[in-house]
Amino acid sequence: MSAGTKDKPKDKTQAQRAALPRLAQFRRIMIKVGSSLLVDPAQGAVKRDWLATLADDIAGLHKSGADVLVVSSGAIALGRSVLGLAPGPLKLEDSQAAAAVGQIALARTWSEALGGRGLTAGQILVTFADTEERRRYLNARATIERLIAMRAVPVVNENDTVATAEIRYGDNDRLAARVATMASADLLILLSDVAGLYSAPPAEDPHAELIPVVAKITPEIEAMAGGAASGLSRGGMRTKIEAAKIATTGGTHMAIADGRVPHPVSRLKEGAACTWFLTGSNPVTARKKWIAGSLEARGALTIDQGALSAIQSGKSLLPAGVKKIEGNFSRGDCVLIRDAAGAEVGRGLANYDADDAQKIAGRNSRDIETLLGMPGRAEIIHRDDMVLKGD
Ligand code: GLU
Repeated sequence: MSAGTKDKPKDKTQAQRAALPRLAQFRRIMIKVGSSLLVDPAQGAVKRDWLATLADDIAGLHKSGADVLVVSSGAIALGRSVLGLAPGPLKLEDSQAAAAVGQIALARTWSEALGGRGLTAGQILVTFADTEERRRYLNARATIERLIAMRAVPVVNENDTVATAEIRYGDNDRLAARVATMASADLLILLSDVAGLYSAPPAEDPHAELIPVVAKITPEIEAMAGGAASGLSRGGMRTKIEAAKIATTGGTHMAIADGRVPHPVSRLKEGAACTWFLTGSNPVTARKKWIAGSLEARGALTIDQGALSAIQSGKSLLPAGVKKIEGNFSRGDCVLIRDAAGAEVGRGLANYDADDAQKIAGRNSRDIETLLGMPGRAEIIHRDDMVLKGD
C-alpha cells in the first residue's frame, strides 16, 4: 500500500514497484550496519558468517564500479562484552569506555572482512561538530573523497569516546544520513532488524503492511514510526525517519532494508521488499541550493577572465586566477566571486582563511606549501562548493 492512497491499492503498488530505483543506477552507496545485525547479543561477538556475506556484497558493488562507504555501529556492544559490563543501559562514561575498547575490535573486523576480498578499509571517526561546522566538514569530506579516489572503503562511526551527551548523534542512523550527504552519496541503505517502514508496528498489528515507497515525509508517515529501539542499537524507526529527512533534503535517496538475512545488499539488488525514501534532488544540486540560498557572504574574491572561463566550464577556482581578496572570512565561509569589472558571478565556500587566501592569490597551486609553510588544497573554491549565476 501507499501511504494516504485508497484508490486501487494493488494497481498503484504495482506501478510504484516498477518505478522504484534499481541498485545498479547508483554511483556512490553508503551502507549503514546496525549493532544488532553485527554483534550477537548473547555472545557479545561479531556475527562473522553474516558479515562475510555482506562483505561479499560490498566487494560486488565495488567491482561493478560503485563507490562504497560503510557506517558501522557495534563499538559499544563489542566493548561492553570485552569489559564484562552487565546488560542494561550504560552510564555515558561507561558507554564511552566500552566504545574505546570496542572500536579497536570493530575496525579490525572490517579491515579483515574487506581485506579478505581485496578491499582496503579506512577508519573515519566523526563527531557531530565534524559534520555540522562548515570548516571541519570540509576537512572530513576531503579525507573521505581522497579515500574513495584511492578506491578504499571508508568505514565510519561516531567518535563515541569523546562526544558528550549534548553534542553527539547517539544513533548512527542520523549520522549516516549526514555523512552520506556530506560525501555526495546518491544512496544510503540502512540495514536494519526490520524489513522497512510498516503502516503500524508489525509486532503488534497483524494487518501492518510494508510501505514500499515514501515520496514525501508527511506527519502521517512520522506517526507510523513509533519509537522503540531494539536492545543493542540506539536507533528506532523514529531516528530512521529523521535520517530520511536529512538524506532526502541533502539529495540522497534512502532505503530501509532487512539486514537479518545473508547477502542483504544483493537481495535488495534482486528486488527484495524494503522502504524507499526518494529525493527529487541530488547531493551536489542540494548543496548548491544551500550555498545560494541560506548562507551570508563574508567576503569576496575578484577573479580574472581566464579563471572565469574555467569556472564557467565546470572547473574549480584556483588561486592563480584570483586578483583581489576582500573581507575577513574563515575557511568554510561563503564568499562572493566577482569578475574583473566587479560584477558578482557566483558564490562558494572558501577553502582558505582570508589571510592565507591573500598570500596565495595570483600564485600557482604548486607554490602553496612554500607560501603558507604547510601543504594546502589546490583549489581556493572547489567546484562542488560553488554556485554560479544562472546555474
Ligand atoms: N556508535 C555506536 C556504536 O558504535 C552505535 C550507535 C547506534 O547504535 O546507532 O556502538
